[in-house]
Amino acid sequence: VMSKNKGSESVKVVVRCRPLNRKEESNGPAGGIVQMDLRLGQVILRNPRASASEPQKTFTFDAVYDASSKQRDLYDESVRPLIDSALAGFNGTIFAYGQTGTGKTYTMQGVWLDPEKRGVIPNAFDHIFTHISRSQSDKQYLVRASYLEIYREEVRDLLDPNHGTARALELRESPDTGVYVRDLTSCVCKSIKEIEEVMNVGNQARAVGATDMNEHSSRSHALFLITVECSQPGPDGRKHIRVGRLNLVDLAGSERQAKTGVQGDRLKEAAKINLSLSALGNVISALADGRSGHVPYRDSKLTRLLQDSLGGNAKTVMVATLGPAPQHYEETLTTLRYANRAKNIQNQPRVNEDPKDALLREFQREIARLRAQLNHRKWRSKQKKEQVEGEGWERDGDEETEGEDEVEVEVEKEAQEYVKLEEQRLEREKEAIREDQFLLAEEKQRLLGEKERMMGDLRKEQEATEQLTAKYKAMESKLLVGGKNIIDHTNEQQKMLEMKRQEIAEQSRSEREMQQQMLVQDEETLELRETFTSLQQEVEAKTKKLKKLYAKLQCIKAEIQDVNDEHVRSRQELEQTQNELTRELKFKYLIIENFIPPEEKNKIMNRLTFDPEEDQWKFQPLVPAERSIRCCGDILAI
Ligand code: ADP
Ligand code: MG
Repeated sequence: VMSKNKGSESVKVVVRCRPLNRKEESNGPAGGIVQMDLRLGQVILRNPRASASEPQKTFTFDAVYDASSKQRDLYDESVRPLIDSALAGFNGTIFAYGQTGTGKTYTMQGVWLDPEKRGVIPNAFDHIFTHISRSQSDKQYLVRASYLEIYREEVRDLLDPNHGTARALELRESPDTGVYVRDLTSCVCKSIKEIEEVMNVGNQARAVGATDMNEHSSRSHALFLITVECSQPGPDGRKHIRVGRLNLVDLAGSERQAKTGVQGDRLKEAAKINLSLSALGNVISALADGRSGHVPYRDSKLTRLLQDSLGGNAKTVMVATLGPAPQHYEETLTTLRYANRAKNIQNQPRVNEDPKDALLREFQREIARLRAQLNHRKWRSKQKKEQVEGEGWERDGDEETEGEDEVEVEVEKEAQEYVKLEEQRLEREKEAIREDQFLLAEEKQRLLGEKERMMGDLRKEQEATEQLTAKYKAMESKLLVGGKNIIDHTNEQQKMLEMKRQEIAEQSRSEREMQQQMLVQDEETLELRETFTSLQQEVEAKTKKLKKLYAKLQCIKAEIQDVNDEHVRSRQELEQTQNELTRELKFKYLIIENFIPPEEKNKIMNRLTFDPEEDQWKFQPLVPAERSIRCCGDILAI
């Protein structure tokens, strides 16, 4: 609960248990094995095969949500503060962890069309855009979304129209932003509707590639990324930009993948399926332990992408999902242990202020450049108009102080007026030429042609201005301005209601924290407070205490036994995989040694290098490739 040092805070871990489903209910009267104490934030797990005397296992978390919990409760209490932080410029991550079928997707997405059942992601969309619409008008926002998936250790862009056939994307690392996905599609979103559309497109892409959607979603990780950039004038009068990055993650199912009888390529694939998840477990263990210096982030795509979220610059919430059915006792226990470990991870979140790569800055620059161009055109056409009207030089004093919004309207009006006057003038001149009796026919033709050409130029000029104005408007519309782009339909009463609900959520959270602290203190100070009036009473009290401690000891012993068993199991699995891979290697050696001439073999071997970024062996080209010039794509086109 208390952070170790200043600026550091632990990963928040909450647990949610879904209701028994119809099939499980019909399985008999055994009922669920998961009990929850909402007030204390505890999960009590019953082993369905244990004798009645065996103590139940109890775990404590930041919050727990039982079968009757509402999506809204979880959001207000455990997610809202995180999204608020992201809007203030912190990085934030929510990931759902648990066995397939326990409610990860229900929690993250829910049922979109049922307001009661909308999950974390749609609620976050509402939250973000409502916040922007209610913020002050000196704030400018730029919201972007990306959607990717990790399947068999390959990163796929779910917003790429060629999703199915496109190559897997590479991870890169930059000193400023950390690990990122190269060439990932990023969509600027101006409204809830637009960002929902992005989500839809990605969800469809996910389903299209999969032959069996259930299997696919249980084996792939889905990451929805939202970047919110906010610019606001600081006390120094300059605009400062804060960038909040949100990762909304629906992980692959945590259950053990059976991999019996797999060979060759399929073996390699099977080994990759849960690599990211086991790497995540190792990272969490290393961080929770706190002693081991090395944290194996680089072992998988997922852990590299979530590096900031685990032990780094981010606020993180883990939602561990459970099923209540007795037949999944083992998996449920494993999930609870995993979640329990994650509580110990310390992060160091800080506001991202004026990062070099803020896209908002580039938008502002581009908008300013377009505005300057338009202003120049305006000035030019005005100047010409005044010449046409025969007036002298006279510039408006208020030209520079005009509001930004009026600029394009003004320019258009001025330009149209100027064109009209010019056209009239040219018409008059043409008329004069036609009526001039002293001009030769040839000369007349030439002069008229010249005037035609001038009119053509004029129209071209106007078209260019129109295009510039359109571009300017399009760019500007992508920036959301506080209290302007979205009309807030909620009335004061509703706003009050929302605030009250947030207060209540905040209150129950702090109450639970206090309860948990009291529980710990109680155990520690019980004997200090007790005074005994008789020896008999002292014996009784101490016997009670002894029994309590003995029960605790038994719990811990059982825990150690369980963890040992788990280690033995996973070691056996690793040994089995190793044996299979060794057999595979022997097979390949046999072919190489017997069927490839040694000099050919050496030539090939000398050309091979390992690329750790792509986790692949690569051939070095025979002739050095020409230095390729990387061309910066038009970043503003996205
Ligand atoms: P996962 O993504 O972990 O594989 P799902 O989210 O698909 O699991 O949930 C499996 C089923 O259980 C779905 O039919 C879902 O609607 C239902 N379900 C999950 N959690 C809840 C809940 N808290 N309340 C009601 N139904 C739930
Ligand atoms: Mg799912």
